[in-house]
Parts: sequence; structure tokens; C-alpha cells
Amino acid sequence: MTTTAIQHFINGQVTAGESSSTQDVFNPATGRVTGRVSLASPVEVNSAVDAAKAAFPSWADTPPIRRARVLFKFLELLNTHKDELAEAITKEHGKVFTDAKGEVARGIDIVEFACGIPQLLKGDYTEQVSTGIDNWTTRQPLGVVAGITPFNFPVMVPMWMFPLAIATGNTFILKPSPLDPSASLLMAKLLQEAGLPDGVFNVVQGDKASVDALIDHPEVKALSFVGSTPIANLIYERGARHGKRVQALGGAKNHMVVMPDADLDKAVDALIGAAYGSAGERCMAISVAVLVGDVADKVVPALAERARALKVIDGMQPEAEMGPIVTRQAHQRITGYIEKGVAEGAKLVVDGRDFESVSAGGDCAEGFWMGGSLFDHVTPDMTIYREEIFGPVLVCVRVPDIATAIQLINDHEFGNGVSCFTESGHVAREFGRRIQVGMVGINVPIPVPMAWHGFGGWKRSLFGDTHAYGEEGVRFYTKQKSIMQRWSDSIDAGAEFVMPTAK
Ligand code: NAD
Repeated sequence: MTTTAIQHFINGQVTAGESSSTQDVFNPATGRVTGRVSLASPVEVNSAVDAAKAAFPSWADTPPIRRARVLFKFLELLNTHKDELAEAITKEHGKVFTDAKGEVARGIDIVEFACGIPQLLKGDYTEQVSTGIDNWTTRQPLGVVAGITPFNFPVMVPMWMFPLAIATGNTFILKPSPLDPSASLLMAKLLQEAGLPDGVFNVVQGDKASVDALIDHPEVKALSFVGSTPIANLIYERGARHGKRVQALGGAKNHMVVMPDADLDKAVDALIGAAYGSAGERCMAISVAVLVGDVADKVVPALAERARALKVIDGMQPEAEMGPIVTRQAHQRITGYIEKGVAEGAKLVVDGRDFESVSAGGDCAEGFWMGGSLFDHVTPDMTIYREEIFGPVLVCVRVPDIATAIQLINDHEFGNGVSCFTESGHVAREFGRRIQVGMVGINVPIPVPMAWHGFGGWKRSLFGDTHAYGEEGVRFYTKQKSIMQRWSDSIDAGAEFVMPTAK
């Protein structure tokens, strides 16, 4: 079987990079190698930074409305090619095609938002702050900025970053995950076709070495990172040491509280979709069900029945509900967590390890398959409660009341997303106010904010001051300048030695 060479995109050219090594790329459904991705050395990173630096002055000088027109064209092309992008995702990530299409659609939302950049860049103006003097603020781009993205959203997460970064006049270097790198090149091609000048958007494929080179490069002014917490923490600290602006979004352990007054059928639907969709490989996946009062005795049997009935088949099949795990290593890691859960005394109600790959159909026998797993009677001291498993494993914790549920969630080290299912307005309001988590859903299991609201967790789910995209994204990719102005006919004669005040 032939494999595709997946290379860098630097200054408008696809290039293998002379100093790059390579790494295999797999189709997780079949377990076969389908591509070989280049891994950049500092040499390729430097060329990408040089290209982005050279492209910056004229792109920053391009009127925002003309930058927006390029994005409008890109939007049109994305809509034409969205199935192609989704297929690239499914074939390297494994998530089901319908879900991959949803990912592309949520990325497109951000491009639509970025098309409004002339309005978003409008500054503030005050006439007559003193006699004959006006004062205004404007926001200007930073220069070369970089985005380092995880495997689990190879289209949507880069689109949390580059549409706003380039709309605001920066030039951009994307370092995608080497596990599913093909979509990055499709996006680069579409941006080029949309008329984006060479060097404004570049892709360096790679691993740690390329990330280190980007962090340490003095011309890279800001880093956006999305990935696991230990790496987010490292990047934040190292970037800050170099005086860079950094937003580093990390891991998660998202809880969903089910109150006794909730519509339990809807809660079970929500838990099944949010725990096992994308095989639990979403930073907003629900991985803990917090079952209040007597809810567990009703919900756990329903969850078990649904988890056993999941359609776990090749994601390109239209009826697929869950695909394979991204890599063999991730499969082993998740299996290890299930073993640990059993060893630490949790009750394994459904064991996804029993899944047989042949039942995934087609030529999937060697793929990285497992079914959904369900644990009950999990307690906060257990490893499967504390750590992010990032797989199709839902753990149920039983609590007596809402106060205990809120305390439990607030004590967790992560604070990305959370959900509460209830029919009580009072409970919903108190929950929203008291919970120490960045994104909250009331009867919404996966509350990923819309493009103009911004995305970000609290605690060790985000390092940095601003959330991704939305108006916070515009602020992250621009620096504020204040200009105060007066003209000679209003200038008083003589030097002033006291702090100027309004006259
Ligand atoms: P990861 O941390 O392994 O990798 C993320 C990126 O960092 C990749 O581009 C990778 O090549 C690079 N990288 C890996 N090791 C590195 C190192 N030692 N030094 C420098 N760079 C390194 O994450 P992943 O497995 O690709 O993605 C899954 C993780 O991402 C989960 O923890 C998930 O919760 C998290 N995630 C978070 C969000 C969010 O918004 N908070 C969104 C998506 C994913």
C-alpha cells in the first residue's frame, strides 16, 4: 500500500525540509500506516519564521476590510471542501465522519466571526480630554505568532487561532499534531487559493523539537497552545521566560451533575453522547457523572444498556456512533486506567476491553478498537477519578446533595467544562454562580461557547489570561496603543514641569 508524504508549508510552498526526519501516520480504524509526516528541525522552523517575518509588514498594513475579504473567500472554499476536510480527519484521527463534519462546522464559525474584523478592531476615541487634545486607543498586530495544536481537533482547534491571528494582521505558523497532520495542508491550500499572500500562513510539521524552536525563537511574539496540562504548563512557563504572550489550554476532567428532578431520559442521552462521542477524546467530553440522591440506581442501568449497544464501527460508515482510539499507545494507556480502576475497587459495569475488533467490520481487524466502559461507585481518591483518561470511559460518583456535588467539582484540579441537568431554576442559578469551572452547561452536556463568546477553562485547564477566540482572541493577537494628539494652534507656549492635567 502506498503512503503519502505529509510535508511542511512554508512561504507558499509545500516542502519536505532538508533536515527533517519522518514519522508514520496511521489510519486507526485499520491500524495501517497511510502516510509519513516530516518532523521539522530548527532549520525548517527558522525558514518558516523568516517567511512569516518577511510577510508581516505588508500584511499588517493591508486594510482590515481587505484582509476580511480574503477570509470571506476562504470561508466559501471551506464550505465547498468541508467533506474533504472531514474525511481527512476521520482517516487519521478515527472519529466518525458525521462528528468530523461537526468539527469542521465549528471551525467555520470562527472564520465567520473573523470576517467581522473591521468592526472588531474599532478603537475608542475621546475628543477633548484636555483643551485642544484628543486621545484614542487602537489595537495593532504583534508580528509572527504560532499555534501548537493537539490531535483531537485537527481542524477546529487551529481555527480557534489562525483566522483571528491573520485577520488582525499577524503572520502565523501552525505546528499541528503529527498524529493527524493532513488537514493542516488542506487548510493551507485553501488559504492560498483564497488569495492569502505567501508567508502569512505557514505549517511546520513536527514534535517537541519544533515546538522548542518556536518557543525560543526571538521573532515569535506569541504562542497559542492547546494540548495536555503538563505540556501546556511547560510552554506557558518557558514562553513567559522569553517575555512572550502565551495562552496555553490544557487537559480536563468534565463532570455532569444529574439532579433527582432532572429529565432522566434526556440526561442519559446527554451522558452517552458526551462520554463516548469521539471515543471520549474531546477536551469537553463528560468523563464523570455525578449522580445526586437516588438518581444512580435509575441512571446506571440505563447507561450500561446504552454503552453496550454503542455502534462502534469504522467512522466512514454513516451509522457509526464511535470510532477507534487514535493510536495503539493511547489504547494501552486507556486499558491501563481500566485495570487501575478495577484494582482500586471501583465497580466495572461495562468493560470496553471485551470489544472484538472484527466486529468493527471491513478491514478493521488490526485497528485500535475498544468499546465504551462504565464504572460505578467511583470515589474521589481513585486514579480514574483524579486523572484525565481521554478515552471512552465514563465514571459515576454518587453524592447525597448538590452542595457535595459542587464541592467535589471545585476541588478537582481541572476546570474546563461542566454540566448540570435539573428542572430547577434555583439549582441552575446557584450551580452557575458557585462552580469553579470556565464553561458551564445547564441541561447542555458539552457547552463549547460560540465563536463570539470565547473558549477557556479555569484552574489547570488554562494557563494565561485570555480565552481562545471571541473578543478575547482579538485582544490576545493585538496590542493596545494609546495616542494623544494636539496641533500647534492649540499648544500653549512654554515648558511644563508639572504633571499635565486636564485644562
Ligand atoms: P499533547 O499535549 O500530547 O500534544 C499537544 C501538542 O503539543 C502537539 O502538537 C504535540 O506535538 C506537542 N507536544 C507534545 N509533547 C510535547 C513536548 N514535550 N514539548 C513540546 N510540545 C509537545 O496533547 P494531545 O494528546 O495531542 O491532545 C490531547 C490533550 O489535549 C488532552 O489532554 C486534552 O484535554 C487536551 N485538549 C485541551 C483542549 C482545551 O481546549 N483545553 C482542547 C483540545 C484538547
